[in-house]
Amino acid sequence: MSWRKSDIWNTSLVKRMLESQRVAQSHLFLGHDQQKKIWVAMSMAKALFCNAPGADYCDQCATCRKIDSHNHPDVFWLRPSGKARVIKIDMVRNLQASLSLKSYEGGKKIAFILESDNMREDAANAMLKTIEEPTENTILVLMAGDIERILPTIVSRCQQLYFPLAHKNEIRDYLMDQQGCSPEKADLVAALSRGNYSLASRYVDDDRRKWRDFAVSSFLNVFEGTLDIFEVSAKMDAWLHELVKKTMMSDDFIETEVGGGDDESSEVLSDMEIKALEKGVLIDEARELFQFFQSCIRDIIIFKETQEKSVLINHDKMNSIDAICRQYSVQDLKNYMEYVEEAYRSFHGNINLRFVLEILFDRLSCSVEPV
Ligand SMILES: [Zn+2]
Repeated sequence: MSWRKSDIWNTSLVKRMLESQRVAQSHLFLGHDQQKKIWVAMSMAKALFCNAPGADYCDQCATCRKIDSHNHPDVFWLRPSGKARVIKIDMVRNLQASLSLKSYEGGKKIAFILESDNMREDAANAMLKTIEEPTENTILVLMAGDIERILPTIVSRCQQLYFPLAHKNEIRDYLMDQQGCSPEKADLVAALSRGNYSLASRYVDDDRRKWRDFAVSSFLNVFEGTLDIFEVSAKMDAWLHELVKKTMMSDDFIETEVGGGDDESSEVLSDMEIKALEKGVLIDEARELFQFFQSCIRDIIIFKETQEKSVLINHDKMNSIDAICRQYSVQDLKNYMEYVEEAYRSFHGNINLRFVLEILFDRLSCSVEPV
């Protein structure tokens, strides 16, 4: 963990939650930035268990360190696992069993349920029961991206906390102060993150940025009439499959469960299950690739209409964007956006990625007729 309590997420919020006489037993953290929710969760656990004198927590004692490394016996973490990446009923039951035991330190227990919008129906019903009939001294924190995918009966019984996306400058400061990024790198990563700390962590990685640079430059080449469609489609396809392989092998991906609670990490996956997982990762990576393309068109439209560099995502491609935006009408650009969306949909319909890219680039090349 490379953040401190003074950073970004104001502990005053966590403090208010915990010091209030009305501390809810069940909370629902909503928002699309997983990283931010986890940071606040960590703060919450530390504020609850750290005994150091002072207002919130020290971030240095054995207790705080145990929480950081997911080794605190009274702090439980649950997240989707298995081939379907869902929270299953036995995982909820195991958590219930752990929570019903006496706490190690004689105080409270806290459980964080990550991605609780990926919960099977029976698991959600079991979770609802846990919320309705809480064990004494237990705090439950469910985290989710979409409120629509949570049982309304769960939503209504939780104290909700919404996590908005951060301002670009906030992420830029964090990257420079906490991640040691240069101002140029921080500027670019902050723009690419679109207010999401989880995405920012992703683009701090040099390989990730190289991939994005290749994807974005190639896409802009279509408009500049300099793209070698077949060569680039093949390279993009191969690169993307490399990324999938890398993700499949990463520790974070293999780990199916963190911290206390049940232990399903020994679950052995069959070849078919691994293939299904791989497909999920491939779809996620491809979605990101098509989002790169869309971000280029978005930037071209925005720059055409505002001439404002600071609002561009791909501001490092300023020269290309400036030249391209003079050549096409907004309506043309909106049509190209539609082509990208159609291409993504056909990929989703199980058409080979390389083939989808070839068709997309060819279609765009044929229709990009400057005004
Ligand atoms: Zn401490």
